[in-house]
Amino acid sequence: MFVSPDPELAALRETVREFVDSFGVDYFQERYRNREYPHELYDAVVDRGWVGLTVPERYGGRGRSHRAAAVWLEPLGTYGYDFGMPALLSTSGAETVVRFGTDEQIERFVAPALDGERRFSIGVTEPDTGSDAAALETRAERDGETYVLSGSKTYQSAAKAPGNTVILYARTDADAPKREGISAFLLPIDAAGVELSPLDLVARRAAGTYDLELNDVRIPASNRLGAAGDGWTIMNDHLRREHTYMAALMAGNARGAIEATIDATTDRERFGRPVSEFQAIGHRIAELQTEVDAARLLVGRAAARLDAGTDSRQYAAQAKLYAGETLRRVGSEAVQLLGGAGLDPENDVERYWREGASATIAGGTSEIQRSVIAAAVLD
Ligand SMILES: Cc1cc2nc3c(=O)[nH]c(=O)nc-3n(C[C@H](O)[C@H](O)[C@H](O)COP(=O)(O)OP(=O)(O)OC[C@H]3O[C@@H](n4cnc5c(N)ncnc54)[C@H](O)[C@@H]3O)c2cc1C
Repeated sequence: MFVSPDPELAALRETVREFVDSFGVDYFQERYRNREYPHELYDAVVDRGWVGLTVPERYGGRGRSHRAAAVWLEPLGTYGYDFGMPALLSTSGAETVVRFGTDEQIERFVAPALDGERRFSIGVTEPDTGSDAAALETRAERDGETYVLSGSKTYQSAAKAPGNTVILYARTDADAPKREGISAFLLPIDAAGVELSPLDLVARRAAGTYDLELNDVRIPASNRLGAAGDGWTIMNDHLRREHTYMAALMAGNARGAIEATIDATTDRERFGRPVSEFQAIGHRIAELQTEVDAARLLVGRAAARLDAGTDSRQYAAQAKLYAGETLRRVGSEAVQLLGGAGLDPENDVERYWREGASATIAGGTSEIQRSVIAAAVLD
């Protein structure tokens, strides 16, 4: 996909691109405009075995690399990275359960995710903490062989999808230093006391975002993922993979946006010639194309670092930062280069502009990614 692509990965990329195109642009426009979850797309992804792409073969997955996952996700983001988020969340969630779960948890949660019966989402953000994730206030009180969860999460992507399990982070020790008192839990959304309310955001309109209220939700103690107090470690391990995968989707979305811009500015004639022939426009397209390609290269490097098992935090943050900022820029410039038509929802670029607005916030803001990178390079 990125540099000297291996033929198998290049073939995977082509297959996914054809797969996404086969849905037709109208599918993406309608789902997005009507705020409808892309069930057909998700089910077809499951049927092809892509949700379990990186899950080891002994657990029923394909046992492929993180690079393969990045190659799969990039074209999946072509018509809006929103559309790839449900599959991304299930894949990265399954990876997290495989990495930190017991055999019993893998059997109960991962195996059904590969069949599409279960899905995963991630529950970190709270109304009063946001970027300061370690300050989260949701409580999990041990009561015999159960935990009782109480608190509020917000901006929960794809949380209401059928069979969803939230990988939820909650405080189990109020007296411990803030990073050490957090634990991870597997919370099925059909548990009694879980309340999900849709948010009306300008972006992520297909997968959807939700407020999540936990009203004394009782779950078995066997739904705790990892040891009590390991939540911060699990969350950061998860986010490194999620940031790399999100960057792949965003880079694919930015590529889709530049492709649409090239088509539209070539078709559109003003002053007797295509607007793409004006040097001012051609140079902007040249710059944006270069940024899109750079974003894809950074994704490839971050995924390769994950595969190598070396510390990938800086590289995941760089990929997420650059791909998110690139999508925001390309989405916004695409609107400008199409003129008034760029603001019409009949046109894909309106959707790319919306998705670009969320790309530098969702999953951790650009400011926080810069802090992570600065901490690594100034070390
Ligand atoms: C579309 C979308 C989907 C999302 N999906 C999920 C999800 O599935 N699960 C989930 O748990 N969360 C999700 N989030 C939440 C997302 O991770 C948070 O929005 C993000 O971490 C920022 O938190 P906040 O919105 O509270 O902003 P705040 O933390 O309030 O930040 C406000 C501003 O201050 C800046 N800022 C804050 N702290 C610092 C600092 N130390 N240095 C410099 N600048 C700083 C921020 O960068 C930002 O510009 C989603 C968000 C969006 C928009």
